[in-house]
Amino acid sequence: MAMMTLAAMTRFRDQYREGIATSYSGWTHMLSVLAVGLGIIIYALAQLQSTSWMEWLVFPLTILVVNFSEYYAHRWLGHRKTKYGKLFYSRHTGDHHSFFLEHSMDYEAVRDWRVVLFPLYLIFAFLLGLILPTGYLLSEIFSMNAAYIYAAAGISGYLFYEVMHFSYHIPRGHGAEKIFLVIPGWAALRHLHVLHHKRDKMAEANFNITLPIFDFLLGTLFWQAIVEFEKEQAVNAEGSAK
Ligand SMILES: [Zn+2]
Ligand SMILES: [Zn+2]
Repeated sequence: MAMMTLAAMTRFRDQYREGIATSYSGWTHMLSVLAVGLGIIIYALAQLQSTSWMEWLVFPLTILVVNFSEYYAHRWLGHRKTKYGKLFYSRHTGDHHSFFLEHSMDYEAVRDWRVVLFPLYLIFAFLLGLILPTGYLLSEIFSMNAAYIYAAAGISGYLFYEVMHFSYHIPRGHGAEKIFLVIPGWAALRHLHVLHHKRDKMAEANFNITLPIFDFLLGTLFWQAIVEFEKEQAVNAEGSAK
């Protein structure tokens, strides 16, 4: 079974890579997401004028809302077929989860970033569809500062997702992994995502990618000790080698 899954994954990887446009550049993809995201955050923060602590409260509240959106979109659009979420479902369950399995979480080439990062247009869709209309409402009912803090926090939450998810797929032993390993709790967060990549868990547990707040609140947090997980993986690998 495990062997079949591995063979199917390898076949999928070959096929997926063949479909990536020759003009695609992983570095351009990543750097443009970061440049657009950081550009918006810096622009929004530069607009602030004599803020109050009440206005700054918008920041953590927005991060919490983004955390729920991450959970919601991942659980109910990424892992469930819906009319409007079809494209996301096929990119996520279809592509991302066929490309990476719990024992094969590392990307192998910069071109593989195509299947890790969101497409660039999504940050613009997020900005136009969510940040601007809600920000406008906040500026009308609260203040201009609140609107800009909301925009900065919303995009920060978006980048937080991208950076964390990307970091979980960095090859083990890579120099960049060492940087993340310094962050307290990061290895545990990565392990939660590794567990989410188990085929029988992906539609059931660990839908948060950043902080597992809503997995905890909604009872979908799944944990298996790393040693136990590794033991189980070794047994599976042995079984499939026979
Ligand atoms: Zn993943
Ligand atoms: Zn998933």
